[in-house]
Amino acid sequence: AYNFNAGPAALPLEVLQQAQEQFVDYQGAGMSLMEMSHRSNLYEQVNNEAQALMRELLGIPDNYKVLFLQGGASQQFAMIPMNLMREGRPAAFVQTGAWAGKAIKEAKLIGETVIAASTESDNFNRMPELSEIQVPDNASYLHLTSNETIGGTQFAEYPDTGAVPLVADMSSDILSRPIDVNQFGLIYAGAQKNLGPSGVTVVIVREDLIAESPKSLPVIFRYDTHAKQNSLYNTPPSFSVYMVGLVLKWIKSQGGVSQIQQYNANKTKLIYDVIDQSGGFYKGVAQPGSRSVMNLTFRMQSEELEKLFVKQSEQEGFVGLKGHRDVGGLRASTYNAVPLESCQALAQFMADFQKRNG
Ligand code: PLP
Repeated sequence: AYNFNAGPAALPLEVLQQAQEQFVDYQGAGMSLMEMSHRSNLYEQVNNEAQALMRELLGIPDNYKVLFLQGGASQQFAMIPMNLMREGRPAAFVQTGAWAGKAIKEAKLIGETVIAASTESDNFNRMPELSEIQVPDNASYLHLTSNETIGGTQFAEYPDTGAVPLVADMSSDILSRPIDVNQFGLIYAGAQKNLGPSGVTVVIVREDLIAESPKSLPVIFRYDTHAKQNSLYNTPPSFSVYMVGLVLKWIKSQGGVSQIQQYNANKTKLIYDVIDQSGGFYKGVAQPGSRSVMNLTFRMQSEELEKLFVKQSEQEGFVGLKGHRDVGGLRASTYNAVPLESCQALAQFMADFQKRNG
């Protein structure tokens, strides 16, 4: 299938094949990794290797912890304010759409929030200019959504927040391009788009930020609990962490994050070009300067035509091109593991569809 699902999303075929080979008998142990104790040496290796590869591929400095947690990125919407908000110091947010909105909603239940910038008046069809983002000096942190999966918008660069820690939800674009981790206090991402299957969430956090979480916080929701126990405080989602490790090895084998970035740019250009050269038959949802390289959102003249597009695309082997149910329209998610060939096929299908219906 040409898999353009938004998440869970395509995984590299080589990774799936490798997992298949190792599925029943992991490393000659006579059992599956899924059947193994998370305290075993073999699992500890899996856990440590996945962490080490994350560090290597993103250039994560030594004063940051890499955690593998459960509960999805949605649990981080709550855990971040629980751990990082301080009395009398609001959490600031960049409101850019559905996912930022959910993060704000959870934080409001924990303490005071302020909106540092919002693109709501533009229907969230763009990311704010960096100059639009006003962060109060006393903010506990500034939270932004690196890539809005539903709207199809993405930050091209990140604000310099000085002494205020920058927190980024990179669920839908982590490892799609190089980043300077030093710019961030905390980065988090659910695995099920660019990193592996669902079930594990990666948190990269500067050590000093998790040293003073409120004493009243339940043990399980404290970052320092998981940091001290090397993400083995309780039973981890071991198979998901193993799969993340395989995906990270695959990224390394592709030449690392810079190569992936180039590959992704080539992939999405094929599709955006068809949109831009269609004379208005296809209309990109995001403003050009904010276009996502991961989730390409577009519309057509009528919902009937969009429905026909989805139906015919499915008949030709395309999966997941229907837009999110909250916003409608069409969306192609072109995460790291989506091959160039799928994007070529989609660009061709779009051009042919226009010829038939334009
Ligand atoms: N943040 C972003 C940007 C997302 O795209 C998603 C899921 O699609 C989430 C958060 C929520 O992730 P989860 O389902 O892992 O809680």
